[in-house]
Order: sequence, then structure tokens, then C-alpha cells
Amino acid sequence: MREGSHLIVLPFPGQGHITPMSQFCKRLASKGLKLTLVLVSDKPSPPYKTEHDSITVFPISNGFQEGEEPLQDLDDYMERVETSIKNTLPKLIEDMKQSGNPPRAIVYDSTMPWLLDVAHSYGLRGAVFFTQPWLVSAIYYHVFKGSFSVPSTKYAHSTLASFPSFPMLNANDLPSFLSESSSYPNILRIVVDQLSNIDRVDILLCNTFDRLEEKLLKWVQSLWPVLNIGPTVPSMYLDKRLSEDKNYGFSLFNAKVAECMEWLNSKQPNSVVYVSFGSLVILKEDQMLELAAGLKQSGRFFLWVVRETETDKIPRNYVEEIGEKGLIVSWSPQLDVLAHKSIGCFLTHCGWNSMLEGLSLGVPMIGMPHWTDQPTNAKFMEDVWKVGVRVKAEDDGFVRREEIVRSVGEVMEGEKGKEIRKNAEKWKVLAQEAVSEGGSSDKSINEFVSVFY
Ligand code: UDP
Repeated sequence: MREGSHLIVLPFPGQGHITPMSQFCKRLASKGLKLTLVLVSDKPSPPYKTEHDSITVFPISNGFQEGEEPLQDLDDYMERVETSIKNTLPKLIEDMKQSGNPPRAIVYDSTMPWLLDVAHSYGLRGAVFFTQPWLVSAIYYHVFKGSFSVPSTKYAHSTLASFPSFPMLNANDLPSFLSESSSYPNILRIVVDQLSNIDRVDILLCNTFDRLEEKLLKWVQSLWPVLNIGPTVPSMYLDKRLSEDKNYGFSLFNAKVAECMEWLNSKQPNSVVYVSFGSLVILKEDQMLELAAGLKQSGRFFLWVVRETETDKIPRNYVEEIGEKGLIVSWSPQLDVLAHKSIGCFLTHCGWNSMLEGLSLGVPMIGMPHWTDQPTNAKFMEDVWKVGVRVKAEDDGFVRREEIVRSVGEVMEGEKGKEIRKNAEKWKVLAQEAVSEGGSSDKSINEFVSVFY
């Protein structure tokens, strides 16, 4: 193989960003590029090599001292991360040059758009990586351009929003920060800022695939030359083989691998509901109780991920009450779980990685979105890709146990369930095709790689 260049890859320090960008590194490494994956962390350490010889991981400080609580104030956090990256990069780049491996580009997370100018200041190319789909970025772009104004008070549920090449959206289909500007003004600014210099970036990458956003893509491509390189789900999962390489991403959590897999191995095909709300969602205590009751009442087997910080909200005696019917773990090897034949459906918060993973592995979904882009992802999952249903929430967002039971039943059995399963199979094949040799995402990755030879 010819020697490719060296790139710096810089995800935002969240699991939903680190996973797809580290997977992308592995794809690039398999095509001959050398990568330094800079991970902003509360535990900085010297750089180390991974089992992929051409990927070096460099955990750098998030700018907080030991014992300081980083996420008290988002603006402060973003500022400290920015300062830490800006302080670290000069030496890193100098060391790379000294060792005869000068970098040619920075592949940076879209939530840190200032890295474009940083890249340019060192004479490097800036390749932005969007870990969210176009259906979300496009909406933020309309806000950035001023063609959509975020109301200051909460939108009524019936309000419709129309965007070019979109289905009509209800207020509760919009990314949560857009139905009311006052609730999270600083997050709204960060998500909209992602699009602030999009017209100037050198290369534009997105973790999606062409067929998935076909209609919207025509509009997107009329504005920017985009490279859709997803799904970044490793190809071994796409044909439902379980992973031999357990280090499929760089996880911030410890997955209970053996516990999950042994439990799933004892279950019949398509019999288990897998429940996960990703790495960030915090459910209110009453919602957690209701979900617990709904899962129990569904009468199905379920594997439920409840992160350590959420375990206090599990009802007392619940684990004893459910017995063999359910397994609760603090973190799962999600791809292995979704690829397991016992999984019948995925009750998800509709984070983009989880959506892509469920879709790529042909798993029917139940969407229970919470905030950020999840409601919009859920809308497309139910109405455009038709691979699942979205739970109906009360006006205040609360989801009743009866609704959980109804949704599980709807997806796991009956005519609608069959239709959903058929669609899920179709999307699995299309996702697989996109990343297979000659597929749309494979071509985009090759186009990207060719810039650096
Ligand atoms: N994940 C996992 N084990 C779990 C829960 C989640 O490995 O128990 C992974 C999941 O496969 C996905 C990521 O964590 O890649 C979560 O990203 P997503 O965009 O779905 O949600 P976020 O955490 O950003 O809200």
C-alpha cells in the first residue's frame, strides 16, 4: 500500500462524537492514512498507539483541574476546551513535523467551528465532520440564515414549520432548542454556530449516507459539495457478525459485555426489547418509574441500560420483581447487542448514532426522544424511513406506561410490526451497500482519501 498523509482528528468530548469519528479514523487507516486522534479528556496522558498501527491516540486536558466539576457552566466548558486545544496543537504539530510526519489536515467536529481558522493558521486543510444528519444541520442553517426565527415562548404543539425539501414538521418534531429560545440559549448558539463558516470549509464530511436523506440531499448539494461517509458502524456488524475487535470505539464507559451477551444468548430470536437512552439523557424520576412499569407490564424480555448516575431512580425492589424478565446494566456493548438475533426492537432516545446503528442493523425501533435533535430524528424514523414508531407523549412530554406497552406491542407483533420489520431489513441492505466497495459512502471516503495522497 502506498503511504498516505497524516491527519489530526478532533472530536468533541462526548460519546456520540468520539464513536463515529474514531470509527472514521479506522476506515481511513485501512486506506493507508496515518491519524492522530486527539481526545479531550479529564485524564490527559502521553500519546499511545492503538492496535491499529497507524492510529495514535493523544488524550489532552479539557482544561479543568482534578476535582473541578467541568459541566457546571457550558460556556466556561467550551472556552476551556478551546483554550486547551489551542495550547496543545502548536507543540503537537511541531513534534509531528520533527518526526517526519507533518499533518496535512485537521478533521474537526462541527461543534468546534473555530478549528477551521486554527487549521488554516498552520497551513493545514480544515475538514469539518458533522456527527448529526443533514435533516438537523439544514434546520440549524435556516436559523443561522435568519429564515427561521426561534420563538421566545414555547411553541404550541400544533404549530407547523416548513423547510425546503422537508416534510411538514410539528413544533414537537423540531430540535428541542428551536421550540423555545429561552430554555437553552447557549446550546442553541453552539448548534447554530456549527453552520457559521460552512461556506468556507475545505472539506465537508457527514455521518449519513446518500439514500437515507435523498430528497434533502439535493438541496444540500445545491449549496455545498458534501461527502457523506456513513454509517460509520464497522462493516463486520453490518452483516450481523459479532465483533472480534471489542475496541470498536473509544468508550467513556465500561460495557458489561459478558453479562449482556450471556443473557441475550439464553433468549429466543426477536424476543427482547433493548432499551437505551445513550450517554447523556437524564430522565425525571417519575418518567423513570413509568418506563420501568411499562417495561414490566409489556410482559416482554428487556435489556435496559441505566447509567450509573441514573441508578438511584430505579424503583425499589424492581430488580427482584422482574427476575429473569429483565436485565439492567450500566452500559452495554450496543453494537453487539443490536446485532444479536434475540433483539426484537430498540427503544431509543433517537440519538443520531443509535438511530444509524439500529437502522444499519435492521432493528425495528421505538422512538422516545428527549431533547436536542432527537425529536427530528424520531420524526424521520417513523414517517420517512418507516422503521419504527414514536411514543405519543402528553403535552408536557411525559410518556405513560400504557403507551410504552402499546408501542412495544405495535412494533413486536401485528401487521404494522411486519411492515416495520420489512422496512428495517430494506434500510439495513441500503446502509450496507453504501459502505461496501463502490457504494456511495465508500466512494466519498475514497474521494476524501485521494486528497491526501
Ligand atoms: N452506547 C453504547 N452502550 C450503551 C449506550 C450507548 O455503546 O449502553 C453507544 C451507542 O452505540 C452510540 C453512543 O453510545 O454509539 C451514543 O450516541 P448517540 O448519538 O446515540 O446518543 P448520545 O449519547 O450522543 O445522546
